[in-house]
Amino acid sequence: TYVVIDNCIACKYTDCVEVCPVDCFYEGENMLVIHPDECIDCGVCEPECPADAIRPDTEPDMEKWVEFNRKYSEAW
Ligand code: SF4
Repeated sequence: TYVVIDNCIACKYTDCVEVCPVDCFYEGENMLVIHPDECIDCGVCEPECPADAIRPDTEPDMEKWVEFNRKYSEAW
């Protein structure tokens, strides 16, 4: 799965949301998040992010971001 990290805070672009083929972006409190179970790992959103906030969970120390993305994508 891909996840959104805190570089997203205050970013006003939603290019990532528009390209996602499965609509798995959700609004968190002050940033977007990706539902980790709905993301199909296609990767098309990553280069669209001007803030470099979208990362694959295969990067080191991403567990907390996966949980964060899950929590806020299921919050409402
Ligand atoms: Fe959506 Fe693909 Fe990005 Fe996952 S990797 S959030 S499916 S655009």
